[in-house]
Amino acid sequence: MPKILIIEDEEAVRENILDLLEAEDFETIAAANGRIGIHLAISEVPDLILCDMMMPEIDGYGVLTTLRQEASTATIPFIFLTAKSAKSDFRQGMDMGADDYITKPFTRSELLSAIMNRLEKYATLKRYLSPQTVIKSLSPKMQLLEISLHRAIKQYNFQEFEIYYQPIVDIASGKIVGAESLLRWQSPELGMIYPTEFIPLAESTGLIIPIGKWVLKRVCKQIKSWRNAGINSLMVAVNLSVIEFNQPDFIHNVVNFISVNNLEPDDLELELTESMIMQDVNSAIATMSKLQSLGVKIAIDDFGTGYSSLIYLKNLPINTLKIDRYFIHNVANDSQKSAIAKALIQMAHNLNLDVVAEGVETEAELGFLRQHKCNSMQGFLFSRPLPAAEFEKFFFH
Ligand code: C2E
Ligand code: MG
Ligand code: MG
Repeated sequence: MPKILIIEDEEAVRENILDLLEAEDFETIAAANGRIGIHLAISEVPDLILCDMMMPEIDGYGVLTTLRQEASTATIPFIFLTAKSAKSDFRQGMDMGADDYITKPFTRSELLSAIMNRLEKYATLKRYLSPQTVIKSLSPKMQLLEISLHRAIKQYNFQEFEIYYQPIVDIASGKIVGAESLLRWQSPELGMIYPTEFIPLAESTGLIIPIGKWVLKRVCKQIKSWRNAGINSLMVAVNLSVIEFNQPDFIHNVVNFISVNNLEPDDLELELTESMIMQDVNSAIATMSKLQSLGVKIAIDDFGTGYSSLIYLKNLPINTLKIDRYFIHNVANDSQKSAIAKALIQMAHNLNLDVVAEGVETEAELGFLRQHKCNSMQGFLFSRPLPAAEFEKFFFH
């Protein structure tokens, strides 16, 4: 988190600001006068300085002038705190090169928005001045993750990756009708890493393209080997990332993996999220329609959490709606969630869509879903995601 230096001689004000910033997880350093403030700014090189204008001995102007002359502190964003809105006061501060000022007393949100504004501007500026600083600003943990991810793909050729499968169950019959593939990365250095951690990194580095292709290929092979083992009529869902979905050869790859494994296109369901589709609605619809016309199923994942719109839903070429687990958690006892879940199920049925409830953990939740005729469910209540071999055993037990 950014480090903020507060230079303020009034103890009550100083403590108040410290509390506020610490609650927001900023790292803070405090100085009770200008002399200590200058000293700390030079030794600690904070990301931003909040400085009172009126202080005995060295005042805010004195602090600013001194810091602007030092190479290491010259560009640190500097915000003045002024006691009264004496125009001449802050005019003088701004003329001397302060970045902003706030008049006391200020509200929490005034303070935070001034800080965030400055930090953002400074980050943008830094990016223009030297592209290297951005990469360096990744935390050591993220840097390690990125290096390991590269190695896991390029050098170890996906050996550290495994695809887990979570059963999807038809609520009325209790039968397993599908499975969602969920990627896992077992790194020897870092341990088990979940997709919520490495997918965003894979997206920002472009590694998601080989990863996505590998997942799709492996899943299709897995479906084929399950067919050979006598598991029929099991649809397997694959999560997509928007970058992968927008690749020019995406449809070609899907068709190819289906045909080399002799699969039926509707053995495969592709999961997209609302926000993926909304990024470029027209192009998304075109790709989805093409896939659907080939017989591949399309699902909307995490439904209800995005900003989309029921209006679009009517026009989207989709087969399945997956209700986000947020709405399912405690749905039987939460009247607002149950109203929403009920409406979503009904609306989906009116649009001829299959509805899957995600994250079902309790009998009460399942009871609610059964009562409201939700088609299928997926969740820890029935099974956690399992490695392929365990899924197969589970299927036959
Ligand atoms: P998702 O597609 O919404 O997947 C469902 C997530 O909910 C999975 O987390 C699953 O383990 C978890 N889950 C299932 N049942 C329950 C339950 O009863 N309670 C709770 N609390 N959680 C449950 P996971 O495996 O960590 O995956 C997280 C997300 O990562 C997925 O969300 C999906 O968006 C993404 N992801 C997973 N595999 C891939 C992949 O191969 N490619 C891409 N692009 N994204 C993937
Ligand atoms: Mg999913
Ligand atoms: Mg989901």
